[in-house]
Amino acid sequence: MNQRSYLDHNATTPLRPEVREAVIGALSLSGNPSSVHAEGRAARAAIEKARAQVAALVGAKPENVIFTSGGTEANTLALAAQPGEAWHCYLSAIEHPSVLSGGRFYRETTTIIPVTPDGVVDLDVLRKKLKKHKPGGWRPFVSLMAANNETGAIQPVAEAAAIVQDAGGLLHSDAVQAAGRIPLDMTALGADMVTLSAHKIGGPKGVGALVLADGVSVEPLIKGGGQEGRRRAGTENVAGIVGFGVAADLAAADLANMDAVAKLRDALEEGARALCADAVVLSAGVPRLPNTSCIAVPGVKAETLVIGLDLAGIAVSAGSACSSGKVEPSHVLAAMGITPEIAHCAIRVSLGFASENTDIQGYLSAFGALVKRLKQNSKEAA
Ligand code: PLP
Repeated sequence: MNQRSYLDHNATTPLRPEVREAVIGALSLSGNPSSVHAEGRAARAAIEKARAQVAALVGAKPENVIFTSGGTEANTLALAAQPGEAWHCYLSAIEHPSVLSGGRFYRETTTIIPVTPDGVVDLDVLRKKLKKHKPGGWRPFVSLMAANNETGAIQPVAEAAAIVQDAGGLLHSDAVQAAGRIPLDMTALGADMVTLSAHKIGGPKGVGALVLADGVSVEPLIKGGGQEGRRRAGTENVAGIVGFGVAADLAAADLANMDAVAKLRDALEEGARALCADAVVLSAGVPRLPNTSCIAVPGVKAETLVIGLDLAGIAVSAGSACSSGKVEPSHVLAAMGITPEIAHCAIRVSLGFASENTDIQGYLSAFGALVKRLKQNSKEAA
């Protein structure tokens, strides 16, 4: 195969050509956006345009967008305890490690909410836990991702938000993987804070945002100058932010193509099952992101399959690329109660805006040949 097939969009997406052009253009903006002269004002205008574009992706007000160095920083900022109040933090067991770290919350005041075997947060447990919060007492802070990065399972954020609101708490949702793949609206979700990351939607790496609902404030993590409404100090990454804005516009427009992406993903799963009757698709029974498939072939180690596919010109990952390098099974699959035998065999295939039928055909032919050979090898070794 001459041309590589990139099927790892949940790890990161290729930079969209329009974004590249915008970033290169913005590198020539020489002014500091905080300066009052013409050069400064030009840089400021570029940032404010991007702020409106990012806000529009989630139906928020531009002034409620805080630009950060990425999804990790935005999650950490969300988890910076609200000043002057006592909080108890609740995190779903399948959150990204930057959320599971708990931010500024203490371990003793953090509770993990379990998920079902399909990888969806157990709202009954959340409801029970939050009933304990009485007006005037400790307030609950809940973080529930919009969709999981490994399985694609979409989480019931709006339902969780209603529970949190009844208990007088705040809800943060990490929408890094959901953005540009399913429609997102802060008001419809009922979320008080939403995390976004540019490099998952065709933008540059190293830029993200925490988007707030009206009236919600955060304690800054990085203090200094008055940038980002005194919520995140430091001279802005102008070119990165401009690229993020263009990517947000394109991602919003691309939502119309997500049915076609889901069809490709379904064809991939059907093909994999036809080639290998014992292939297991994780979270198959619940609504998922249209681009994501987490498949395990029992007895075929994910690392071996990923390397074999890479040699065949196809990029996928074993579990979460954010945690690649570690050999223990993913915390997400463990939380779902997936046995280590299956979890060690789970690979993640994630499609993107440029994925085509030829990618699926190429994947299936390489996957079929590899699985056949690896199963034969293990039979001979037994
Ligand atoms: N949240 C989720 C769900 C992710 O998948 C990732 C990265 O993979 C992040 C947060 C971190 O975002 P960033 O890479 O921009 O720090």
